[in-house]
Amino acid sequence: MRKVKKREVLIVSVGKKRVIIAASMLAVAICIGVIIGSVAGYVTKSAFVNTPSSEASIGEDLSQLVTSQPVSEQPVSSAAEISEIPSSKPVSSAVSRPTSVPSSSSSSSKASSSPNSAAIAKEMEAIQAMFPNFYVDPTEKIAHKAGDKVAYLTFDDGPSALTPQVLKILADNDVKATFFVIGRSDEQSKKWMKEIVDQGHTIGMHTYTHNYKQIYASPTAFFTDLSKLNDLITEATGVKPQIVRFAGGSVNSYNKAIARPVADELTRRGYTYFDWNVSAGDAEKGATAQSIYQNTVNETLQFEKAVILFHDASTKHDTVKELPKIIETLKKNGYRFDKLDPSVKPIIFKLPAH
Ligand SMILES: [Zn+2]
Repeated sequence: MRKVKKREVLIVSVGKKRVIIAASMLAVAICIGVIIGSVAGYVTKSAFVNTPSSEASIGEDLSQLVTSQPVSEQPVSSAAEISEIPSSKPVSSAVSRPTSVPSSSSSSSKASSSPNSAAIAKEMEAIQAMFPNFYVDPTEKIAHKAGDKVAYLTFDDGPSALTPQVLKILADNDVKATFFVIGRSDEQSKKWMKEIVDQGHTIGMHTYTHNYKQIYASPTAFFTDLSKLNDLITEATGVKPQIVRFAGGSVNSYNKAIARPVADELTRRGYTYFDWNVSAGDAEKGATAQSIYQNTVNETLQFEKAVILFHDASTKHDTVKELPKIIETLKKNGYRFDKLDPSVKPIIFKLPAH
């Protein structure tokens, strides 16, 4: 009896131990799960951090991009996500520079790269022989000088019916700015493009169609689109554009697989591309005149060198309305205004790793 009882106690105690061990293991498993979950969440968020909700101002693309990154996740200060590229060594357009990593090792060595990175590398090689007129002379980059407070106003998606108003405000305030235009080929739009150039502003390329799915379907699709816009701007203004702003920014949820090779090829061809470190948020859902003013001023004050993203579209009345006030406030805070050109060291998003 006693013996049995003792054995029972023993079994119970062993049983308890088992329960305790099992519980501990469960707790450890949950911890590991949480850690893995957090890391995965962080990685996912990082990968999409440059998803350009603020860039999604053209038609159907808005919903797709906003879905990828809620407006609330748009970083107020993007400083950590944005780096200035080192001054790129001018590359002679006549010399072919190998693009991307060698195809033999790229597909096997990096699990993170796209499964078809070898195919992309091959495509990039073919592109080097295409678009023979799509080159400009590379320009030496000049770094920002500490203490120089400079604001670069940039307007994407134009020209539009509001372009003349934007130009008038800029002229009234003696401010030069930058317009990254899209492929509007009607006569009126071409006149506006010419007006931008004639008034001393910089005109840059923002892709012809601004259709993310189409332009980022492949590197060839991208360069076909951009060289078409190059032709249109050159015809309309007599000036060959030298700078680019990718539709949606240089790294976005549509172009991750091709962002780096395409950026490398643009650079090889002498072009300079610019992202931004301040967004007016004028293409975001719920933007108001007040939010545009506040976003722009608050974010700009965090930087000595601010590249500010606005949109030039027929619906952006609030942007036009706030522009004089924004210029006035920034001037009061010691900022000068300038236009982008290929000698300005660009602010660009971090490219995905090779
Ligand atoms: Zn755009």
